[in-house]
Amino acid sequence: MKIIHISAECYPVAKVGGLADVVGSLPKYQNKLGFETAVVMPYYENKFNQNNTYTIVHTTRIEMGDTQYEASVLALQSSKLGYPLYTVKIPGLLDREDVYSYPDDTERFLAFQKTTLDWFLHLETKPELVHCHDHHTGLIPFMMSKAHKYESLSDTPSVLTIHNAQYQGQFSFEKLHYFPEYDLSHSGLLEWAEQINPLAAAIKCAWKITTVSPSYLIELRAAANGLEWLLDNEKGKSSGILNGIDTEVWDPETDPMISKNFHSNTIDSGKRNNKLFLCDQFELDPKKPLFVFIGRLVGEKGAELLPEIFETLLKDSELDLNILILGSGDSEVEKQLDTLKARFKGNYNTYIGYDEKLSHLMYAGADFLLMPSRVEPCGLNQMYALRYGTLPIVRSIGGLKDTVIDIDSKGGFGICHEHTTVAEATHAVKRACGLYQDQTRFKKIRKQIMQIDHSWDSAATNYIELYQSLTHQN
Ligand code: ADP
Repeated sequence: MKIIHISAECYPVAKVGGLADVVGSLPKYQNKLGFETAVVMPYYENKFNQNNTYTIVHTTRIEMGDTQYEASVLALQSSKLGYPLYTVKIPGLLDREDVYSYPDDTERFLAFQKTTLDWFLHLETKPELVHCHDHHTGLIPFMMSKAHKYESLSDTPSVLTIHNAQYQGQFSFEKLHYFPEYDLSHSGLLEWAEQINPLAAAIKCAWKITTVSPSYLIELRAAANGLEWLLDNEKGKSSGILNGIDTEVWDPETDPMISKNFHSNTIDSGKRNNKLFLCDQFELDPKKPLFVFIGRLVGEKGAELLPEIFETLLKDSELDLNILILGSGDSEVEKQLDTLKARFKGNYNTYIGYDEKLSHLMYAGADFLLMPSRVEPCGLNQMYALRYGTLPIVRSIGGLKDTVIDIDSKGGFGICHEHTTVAEATHAVKRACGLYQDQTRFKKIRKQIMQIDHSWDSAATNYIELYQSLTHQN
C-alpha cells in the first residue's frame, strides 16, 4: 500500500512541537511493517535543508488569484530517515526559516497543498491513501473530492489526524479565488462560522478522522474551539489512536545528546551522571530533587500559572527542591520566569528558547517532569520522560489521562491532579517531594517506568488497520 503523509512539520527536517515527532517517526514504523510510506512537507530555508541534497521530481506553476508562483517538488537524496521525504519549494511563499506565524500563512499552506495535489496528478503510481495532519493540510480532502482539476483523485481515501484542534487556520471567503474550480454548491463544506475553516473542511471531507489519544476525542466533543458540534456529528468516522514514540531516537541507551547513556540496570548511575552534568551547567544542587518543565509557553500548557507555581514552591521553607525550565512562547511569561532567577539563584534556572539537545539531557537528568496542561491532545513529553526514568507529574487530561497512573492507584507510577490550578500543581509537587524522600520506592518506580512500552511498534498497527478498512472498501 502506498501511503503519503502530508504535514507542515516533520522531525528532523522542521520541528515546532509533537506534530513533527509523530510525522517524523510513524512512517518509519509503517515501512517496517511492510507498507510503502512517504512524507511530503513544505521546503523551509532551514539548517536541515541547507545541509542536505535534493533532486527535483516535479515542477509546476501555481496560481493564487492573479499571482503565479513557480513550484517544485524535491526528493531527499538520502535514506537516513527510514522513508522517502519530499519537500515542496515555492519561492516567494515557503522560502523562509520558520514554519508558522507569517501574515501570509493562508497563502503559503494553500499553495503547498495545491502543489502537492498537482504532483499527485503527475505521479505514475498514485498514492493509495493520503494521510493529512492538522489544518495546514486540511483543504486536501475537499480539493481531492470536489475540485474539477483533481477529479482523478476523488476515489483515493483520505485520513485526517487532529494533533491540535485549537488551531484551525480560518480565513475569509474573500480568498475563495485561491481555490481551484469546483461546483460552488459545495462551498458549505469549506465553511464554519461564516469563514473558510480548513480544519472543519477536513473533518467534513476526510474519509476517517483520528485524534492523537482516545480521551482527546471525547474531550473535543465538549471543547474544540467552536467545532464541538461538528466533531460530535462526525463521531461515526472518528477514532482516537494514542501516539507512539520513536524508540530509536529516544533511547537512553544510545542517545548521543545526553551526557551518559544508561538502561534500566544502570539507571542509578546513569541518571546521577546526567543530573550532575545538568546541575553543573545550570548552577543547581544535584542533591535536591530536580523538577523540570519542557514545552511551549502557551495557555494550553498552563504556562501563565508557572511563575506563581514556582514562586510558591521555592518560597516554601518546608520544601527543598530545584526547578529548571526549557521553553519559549508568551513573552510576558518568558519575562516572569526569567525574573525569578535572581531571587532563587542556586535552586532555579531557565533556558528560554528552543534546544533539542538540552531537552534530551533534561529528560535524562531530571527526577520529575511537570505538565500542568489545560489541554493535552496526546503529549509526548511524558512518554519521553518515562523512557528516561523521569516521573511525570500531570494534570489528568487528554493523552496525559491515557498514559499516566497516579502512584496511589494500582500499578501507579506518576503523580496526577484534576485541575490546572496553582494549588493543585503545587500540592502535586509536594507529594513528589514526599516520594523522593522514600528513595527505595522512588528508585523502584523509576526503574519500572523505563519498561513501559509506548513505541510505535504497536501503535503503528492501529493506523494500518484503519487504512485497510478504507482501501478494502474501495
Ligand atoms: P506540543 O506538540 O503541544 O508542543 P507535545 O508534548 O506533543 O506538545 O510535543 C512537544 C515536543 O516538542 C517534544 O518533543 C518536546 O521535547 C519538544 N519541545 C517543546 N518545547 C521545546 C523546547 N523549548 N526545546 C526543545 N524541545 C522542545
